[in-house]
Amino acid sequence: CHNELVRLKGNIRVFGRVRPITKEDGEGPEAANAVTFDANDDAVLHLLHKGKQVSFELDKVFPPQASQEEVFQEVQALVTSCIDGYNVCIFAYGQTGAGKTYTMEGTSANPGINQRALQLLFSEVRSKASDWDYAITVSVAEIYNEALRDLLGKEPQEKLEIKLCPDGSGQLYVPGLTEFRVQSVEDINKVFEFGHVKRVTECTNLNEHSSRSHALLIVTVHGLDRSTGLRTTGKLNLVDLAGSERVGRSGAEGSRLREAQYINKSLSALGDVIYALRSRQGHVPFRNSKLTYLLQDSLSGDSKTLMMVQVSPAEKNTSETLCSLKFAERVRSV
Ligand code: ADP
Ligand code: MG
Repeated sequence: CHNELVRLKGNIRVFGRVRPITKEDGEGPEAANAVTFDANDDAVLHLLHKGKQVSFELDKVFPPQASQEEVFQEVQALVTSCIDGYNVCIFAYGQTGAGKTYTMEGTSANPGINQRALQLLFSEVRSKASDWDYAITVSVAEIYNEALRDLLGKEPQEKLEIKLCPDGSGQLYVPGLTEFRVQSVEDINKVFEFGHVKRVTECTNLNEHSSRSHALLIVTVHGLDRSTGLRTTGKLNLVDLAGSERVGRSGAEGSRLREAQYINKSLSALGDVIYALRSRQGHVPFRNSKLTYLLQDSLSGDSKTLMMVQVSPAEKNTSETLCSLKFAERVRSV
């Protein structure tokens, strides 16, 4: 039954998560709540936009009170499938301030998917240690203005190239991208700290920078069955996407406009790729952006993808919320 469901729906899921109203939303009518839920259907949400109610159906919707644990519950099967050799992508999509980083990184009191995923992988791998040897490595990278940078490398300014493996396997790799072997949560924290420090010291305004770049945590799980010699490799790509807000309209110029154009291009390329995969089109335009090219072998074949579309419930954000939900609906509209 489960497999039948998977076959029918394909390997691409689109979830929505609505953040709570916060102090930053203000206190006036602009902070009024514009999103409501359906008591009988946890896949539906309603948005009140300019006096009209618009309803959306996704694969699942998390209301503001949903905890990080509840979200992770719905994600953990995807995470552990990379131990079995599957490639997985989890994306957080949405306008700046909609909760992407909260969902992926979270806070120290309420860690998000990244930390929980690694923790789960460590414990799963430990429970199989009597038969299997596993090695888990992580890379941390960002894509800014279509340039890929290694956040764990000695030369973070260097732009990395994406290359096709010469072995004819169709796999892609990034020569020079640093991979750290990790064995514990402490190792992970050290790696995150390192990547974070690097990003902070290089940016005059980290918040602005991180809202305009895609942040990637790439986890690779190599397995070896000691009795049979069977080897598996699975990859988990955890991606905090650049903000989807439409900057161009507010008269942006120069570097700001260029950033906006790059973001727009790569987010629509991602949408196009997921749409093409979900509708089983023959041609999938992976090459239209660095992000989709880099993730090609984790998006195609029997890979599994989750798009977490983050939205704000506030009245003042309803135009962007509508755009994000339309994006969500489009990629799952097959
Ligand atoms: P983004 O990364 O999309 O720009 P953030 O993750 O930084 O957005 O979220 C914006 C603010 O809202 C942060 O202060 C964050 O802690 C808070 N926030 C977002 N989602 C939630 C949530 N589900 N529960 C509580 N606070 C949240
Ligand atoms: Mg963020």
